[in-house]
Amino acid sequence: MANELRWNPILGEWIIVASKRETRPWRPKTCPFCPGSEETGYGWKIKVLPNRFPALRTDAQTSIESHGIYMVKPAYGYCEVIVETPMHEGDLCDIEINNLKEFIDVLAERFVKLGSDPKIKYVFEFRNKGAAIGVSLHHPHSQIYALPFIPPRIKRELKNAKKFWSKRGICLFCHVIKLEKDFGKRIIYENDHFIQFLPFFAMWPYETHIYPKRHVQSLNMLSDEERYALADVLKVATKTYNTLFDTSLPYIMAIHQKPTDGKDYSFYHMHIEFYPPNRDKEKVKYAAGIEWGAGTFTYDALPEERARQLQKACVKAIRELASKSYKPFGVCKEYMQ
Ligand code: ZN
Ligand code: ZN
Ligand code: FE
Repeated sequence: MANELRWNPILGEWIIVASKRETRPWRPKTCPFCPGSEETGYGWKIKVLPNRFPALRTDAQTSIESHGIYMVKPAYGYCEVIVETPMHEGDLCDIEINNLKEFIDVLAERFVKLGSDPKIKYVFEFRNKGAAIGVSLHHPHSQIYALPFIPPRIKRELKNAKKFWSKRGICLFCHVIKLEKDFGKRIIYENDHFIQFLPFFAMWPYETHIYPKRHVQSLNMLSDEERYALADVLKVATKTYNTLFDTSLPYIMAIHQKPTDGKDYSFYHMHIEFYPPNRDKEKVKYAAGIEWGAGTFTYDALPEERARQLQKACVKAIRELASKSYKPFGVCKEYMQ
């Protein structure tokens, strides 16, 4: 069994190679996360489990030696699963607000805990939903990969944020919030502490980003009140997605926080990105020739038009949540008109 990092000298990035992962179950018949299962037991609202088929491990072994520019390192790290609710079906929007706030507490706690290992440079927390994304287990859950390196997408964000900070003396992300608020037409939902918008530079058709309004670098820096506000945005945002085409929409939810290598990242601003692959109810956008082969994304509509569709869905979503006795903390801009 091998868990190793192999360096791609051409792109300058690590690949995680795990030889045993192929044997993981593909959509098993009995749910391993439902209450009463061997892994989870009874009497819980939220559960953190070690990933049974981890790509990274603390006792990682390599299968081959480094040779010249072909570098190999043990894939040291942690892979964890967060089972967000005992409910077998549903999305974040179906989870009760206090339970969702607890989910955010757990994400913050694991970020600090796993990040405190001096060998861990980055704690990546994310959520995959839906068969189109390749989710192998249906029961609502998120994942954590605690990595011994800073992943390339984060590196690029850090580089640009740092450059902006040193040139302009302000945070790039705080500036994006200002631009989105000034323009207004791409904002989907906003409460006292968070703002959700479809970015000017969206890559996926219905991609949206959620920024805390306060300049913070990681979830553990959020106050209790802010965590409830984040739970509220997550609830409304996922409800909006499921209302958009009146179908349970698949998505990737990626949480971007500062690295945990102990350096100063006060120029960074944490945020959450949602990438649903759908372009409409049935059709999915693939990362194909131009996207994968060249790394350049195409967007086949105007972001402002799609933001408008999301705003309409958000208004409906808020109404529906209210009819199920949940009162959203914030408003859809559209809602006020
Ligand atoms: Zn289940
Ligand atoms: Zn900021
Ligand atoms: Fe980001």
